[in-house]
Amino acid sequence: MQRPPATQRPSAGAPAAALAETMVLFDWNGTVVVDADRARAALNVVLARRGIPVLGEAEFSVRFRLPLAQLFGRLGVPDADASDAEEEWNHEMAETRAHLSDGAAECLAALSEAGAWLGVVSAASPAAVRFDQRSLAVPAVWNSVDASVADKFETLLRHRPTRPIAYYVGDTPDDMRCASAAGYIPVGVTDAYSRPETLRSAGAAHVIGGLDELLAIIA
Ligand SMILES: [Mg+2]
Repeated sequence: MQRPPATQRPSAGAPAAALAETMVLFDWNGTVVVDADRARAALNVVLARRGIPVLGEAEFSVRFRLPLAQLFGRLGVPDADASDAEEEWNHEMAETRAHLSDGAAECLAALSEAGAWLGVVSAASPAAVRFDQRSLAVPAVWNSVDASVADKFETLLRHRPTRPIAYYVGDTPDDMRCASAAGYIPVGVTDAYSRPETLRSAGAAHVIGGLDELLAIIA
């Protein structure tokens, strides 16, 4: 989904937006939302208890579709067991709450206010992104949202002409490589899984510990 950025609408007497030439695209899990993998973890607890094979990251992003009852049915949970399974899933989700990256809400609001084009390019399913967007009250700042992206390089390349200056913010070495190859300034967010050196050697121009550090780089 795309809509023209508010800052491109003519408004008499308004000062030029500071970031009118800048686009910032974000990975979702591990970048905007920390521990967003909890939905998969919760689902896998439910499946494992029933002797059903658990889902890897790629398979999860393809097969995870709400509503839950239908999801469980497709994955092999008998109908009679569906409400117990749903209760367990809810319990696991409540135990492992996701949260926004430190300073994410403030950073996104400030970038949007300054006129930057903001987008999501993520392998997560649209349902998972919407779920987080709602449950974590992520500011509604997005000019574009690309979910279930199998090839980030291709998607980034397609968006690249949008603005003269472009950043991609992600948390994996592959994010950094795709960003760099598609002509973006790669910004790496470190977490428990990726070390700063790993992101730097994959091409990260900047490595930050959370989105609270992003504004200083871009502004
Ligand atoms: Mg990620």
